[in-house]
Amino acid sequence: NMSTKVAVVTGSNKGIGLSIVRALCKQYQGDVYLTARDTGRGQEAVESLSSEGLKAMFHQLDINDLNSITTAAAFFKDKYGGVDVLINNAGIAFKGGDDDIMSTLPPSLCLSLSSGADTTAFAVQAEVTLKTNFFATRDMLTHFLPIIKAGGRVVNVSSFVGARTLNQCSPDHQQRFRSEDITEEELVGMMQQFVDEAKKGEHKKGGWPDTAYGMSKTGVTTLSMIHARQLSKERPNDGILLNACCPGWVRTDMAGPKAPKSPDEGAITPVYLALLPPGATEPHGKFVSDKEVQPW
Ligand code: NDP
Repeated sequence: NMSTKVAVVTGSNKGIGLSIVRALCKQYQGDVYLTARDTGRGQEAVESLSSEGLKAMFHQLDINDLNSITTAAAFFKDKYGGVDVLINNAGIAFKGGDDDIMSTLPPSLCLSLSSGADTTAFAVQAEVTLKTNFFATRDMLTHFLPIIKAGGRVVNVSSFVGARTLNQCSPDHQQRFRSEDITEEELVGMMQQFVDEAKKGEHKKGGWPDTAYGMSKTGVTTLSMIHARQLSKERPNDGILLNACCPGWVRTDMAGPKAPKSPDEGAITPVYLALLPPGATEPHGKFVSDKEVQPW
């Protein structure tokens, strides 16, 4: 039904994504799609919501698979005439070592959590983390932004780690990430340069910090700002709001059991941005945490 509104959440079979779907099922006037790369895990999650009395729909969506992205985009275009709310939540992080989001914890806590640390070479961590968190999220936006309907809301789940990582880049890189005239092409080039230099063990010399996860999220936030400016310019009358956010530090498989927020609490800011009321003009192109615009 072309007049039914629709919300789509990536990576929502567990963690924060599942909590976002749960909240949207309760608050959103429209169909809510739980999506997952694995159909079995996705359908199990739909059933778990169903046992709470909530009705989510399901569509397979692996953001690392271009065919999966285009198939899903075509489905929503065909069935709903586009998408009203898109939440890019899917993401990965290696565990343990220097490049763990856990390294934001006090050292004492880190130690206690570092059993099972992932010692995958930094070169591999850089390539694999950037592939999903940055390049695949970008592929999602390439294929879904054109079908976001007027009045639509797009939320990219980034991280406070990306903001911290920005400040660890060389002054030149920082200036480009913060500039108003950086293009998507330039950003993609910078992200690729980070990966290429990490593979040669030369990323520090290149002005990049030692965190692949952090760089991937710096990229996601910058990409959000670029796309928001683009939407304002190219579709000025469509009232689409696009933002990046941090869910906070949330107890999930990614962040572990010691994080302070529950997954449902982690969903609050992404859902707030997804449900900004009709006619709202801000925030747009911002990085938001605890429902507040953060410095970049
Ligand atoms: P989880 O590991 O619990 O969940 C990640 C979800 O993403 C899973 O559903 C996973 O699916 C999915 N996913 C991974 N790769 C793909 C892919 N290629 N295609 C589709 N889905 C995929 O992590 P969180 O819930 O903690 O994280 C959600 C988001 O929040 C991430 O972007 C993360 O970086 C961000 N974040 C999390 C914080 C935290 O404290 N937890 C803090 C700041 C940001 P599968 O089950 O198949 O692996």
